[in-house]
Amino acid sequence: MKRDPQPTPAQRLRRMHDVLMHAYGPQFWWPAQSPFEVILGAYLTQNTAWKAVERSLAILRAAGALTVEGMRVISVVKLRRLIRPSGFITRKAPALKAFVRLLDKQFGGSLAALAALPTEELRQRLIALPGVGPETADAILLYALGHPVPIADEYLRRIAERHGLLASPTGRRHITYDALTSLTRHAFAADPAPAQAQLFNEFHALTVAVGKAHCGRTARCESCPLAADLNSSFQPSALSSKPAPPERWPAVNPKKLTAES
Ligand code: SF4
Repeated sequence: MKRDPQPTPAQRLRRMHDVLMHAYGPQFWWPAQSPFEVILGAYLTQNTAWKAVERSLAILRAAGALTVEGMRVISVVKLRRLIRPSGFITRKAPALKAFVRLLDKQFGGSLAALAALPTEELRQRLIALPGVGPETADAILLYALGHPVPIADEYLRRIAERHGLLASPTGRRHITYDALTSLTRHAFAADPAPAQAQLFNEFHALTVAVGKAHCGRTARCESCPLAADLNSSFQPSALSSKPAPPERWPAVNPKKLTAES
């Protein structure tokens, strides 16, 4: 009797999305009252727990600095003080000001004008800014500006390694960001293009959910929704390895870009 071909890593990842969606339901990322607030959150959450980011955002809101106009007029010195709960203030405050300078100088202060750029050009513009790496750029693209790009983080890296989805001959850190996002793209390549931004949105949120609940520094596979995928690809030795701390992302409500700030 002919056996079914083994699913590819991309097919398994696509299936993981469905399993996690069934287990957890939609996550409705990202929690914010405006696209500009999403962008500030994406900067502030770098190497920082989301609880601390929430404190900073509340302080910024109270100071009227949670809009493009508010961020435009605030001094770097004052901004450093307001975002202190999020840490890394000497890097993050000038980085936020640099984002608003770009917005003002090249896009008339309009997030809608910025979002109208083609995805890859926009991504390169963001990555060229101080304090913006691929993960922050993709979070801004997807959650603030509505572009269909996948996001990878430490949680997805752990899942990919522990399930043997990507080759990691010399260890976890050798699974690159680009390899993870490329695999995610392949996983959703057969889905209709108009649905992809929402799929990437939920998939990232769902992998964070399963990562927080089960797939931390120590894997708790017994009750994990993804345990059925492990099978022969499981690599027990990987479970004791020590990854870098994850970037932590928040949960809830996606915002569509309808306003400038
Ligand atoms: S906890 Fe185990 S089953 Fe769950 S995602 Fe991690 S490695 Fe997979």
